[in-house]
Amino acid sequence: MVDAHLVDNKATFSAFSHLLDARLLRALADMGFSRPTLVQSKAIPLALESRDILARARTGSGKTAAYCIPLVQKILSAKSALDLEDSSRQATRALILVPTKELSEQVTSYLRGLCKYCEDVVLANAAASTSAHLQKTMLSDRPDIVIATPARALALLQSKTLVASQLDSLVIDEADLVLSYGHDDDIRQIFSGAYLPQVYQSFLMSATMTEDVELLKGLTLRNPAILKLEDGED
Ligand code: ADP
Ligand code: MG
Repeated sequence: MVDAHLVDNKATFSAFSHLLDARLLRALADMGFSRPTLVQSKAIPLALESRDILARARTGSGKTAAYCIPLVQKILSAKSALDLEDSSRQATRALILVPTKELSEQVTSYLRGLCKYCEDVVLANAAASTSAHLQKTMLSDRPDIVIATPARALALLQSKTLVASQLDSLVIDEADLVLSYGHDDDIRQIFSGAYLPQVYQSFLMSATMTEDVELLKGLTLRNPAILKLEDGED
């Protein structure tokens, strides 16, 4: 559970009912998320306006939901728009980069809870399996959301197992740790221009602002909304 002082006492998730699909609101209620945390109440509306987001807020402040909720909402909106034309146009729309396999499991588990009532949203944790065959099978139906470490994402992009040309959103979670886990070169290659579309929405989530985060900011963000929640405020 999140600390009481990190919660935005002026808002409830139902205050976002005009922005969020009823299936997400229901899943949030099931998970015991009744009030957004401060970083969530700031990030969600901005992200739904397609702003890039740089969020610095301490560990435990609820950064996972701050990017997962708008990301899934955008996928649901895109799917309902597509349904009118062509329901078979399945593509990977979001890539979530995390520094470790352990974090990939936490994020995947949160997303599974959030997408409980959205059976048409397909998730793949590409960091979980080391079998090339399993990865190929898992990614062959173009899951909507792929979670991976940078090293794994790059290998899958290079082998064309993962196709990111129709990406709408890209997240770097624990951005302050990603480079210190030795992913520098992988990150640079992912952003080299060979794999990603020209325009997509980026999220950089971090507990601290470091030189590494500044570097990633230069690589990934365009005119971002910068949410820096100070101690005591976040
Ligand atoms: P961070 O990534 O900022 O360290 P997490 O996203 O991991 O934080 O969230 C920390 C904990 O708080 C998790 O157990 C999460 O389920 C819980 N949590 C996050 N947001 C809420 C909320 N709005 N209501 C209740 N619990 C929440
Ligand atoms: Mg986190």
